[in-house]
Amino acid sequence: MDRGFLFGDGVYEVFPVYNGLILGLELHLKRLQEGLDTINIVNPHNKKEWTSIINELISYHKENTKQAIYLQVSRGCDDDRKHTHDKLKPTVYMQSSSFKNPTKGDLLKGSAAITRDDIRWSQCDTKSTSLLANIMFAQEAKNHGVEETILIRDGIITECSSSNLFLVKNDCIYTHPKGPYILPGITREIIIDCAKYCDTEVKEVTFNKDFLMDADEVWISSSTREVVPIIRIDDSPVNNGKVGETWSLIYDRYQAIKSINV
Ligand code: PMP
Repeated sequence: MDRGFLFGDGVYEVFPVYNGLILGLELHLKRLQEGLDTINIVNPHNKKEWTSIINELISYHKENTKQAIYLQVSRGCDDDRKHTHDKLKPTVYMQSSSFKNPTKGDLLKGSAAITRDDIRWSQCDTKSTSLLANIMFAQEAKNHGVEETILIRDGIITECSSSNLFLVKNDCIYTHPKGPYILPGITREIIIDCAKYCDTEVKEVTFNKDFLMDADEVWISSSTREVVPIIRIDDSPVNNGKVGETWSLIYDRYQAIKSINV
């Protein structure tokens, strides 16, 4: 009778862990709190408690140098299946999985993506466990043998099925602004910091598919994928199919900060 199972009535987080250190812990816990507030679930734990529970789970898998901690808070169990609810005790589900990333050498070969209409709801900034549209888009990418599906809402590139999108044009980085049409990715946030550190300008503005196809570089980002260069979109090459230098710069900085607890 858990509403997470029956309705997808909950929010989740994925914390990347490198050698026992959680990257972006504060940012992930803040986004979790915002999601819970949005859907009116009282956070069952404070920051200190979450940190200790997550660290306990991490400690059971010490042999894994990279762990993805999946955490879901659902509204809880009711005694009847009905859309409305009264006050329930939230359910917490957590798991740790090991994850791998391609080497820089492999990433330099570049990945491909397809584009689709973004048919999702207008509250994509809530990290809801209801992910039906996202999983359909992800599966379509898989069926096409590509890395991701890039989403387009009313002519504007928003993000991807499970990652944010960046492009580079004339040494400036572009990404969709935060708001209801994208998930405010923690990796996106960290990449913007990396760009500042590397003295590279970032514009959080909207852009269309023509601008995307004319980019010097395109990348996607997420906690477990980190930052992946895209060199083909809908069977057309980006920048003649070459991975760009700005990606390399940001990738290196990202690798460097993984050992720092931000
Ligand atoms: N957008 C969507 C739709 C996602 O599902 C994800 C990953 N969950 C992201 C962006 C990237 O978010 P993060 O960097 O926090 O993993």
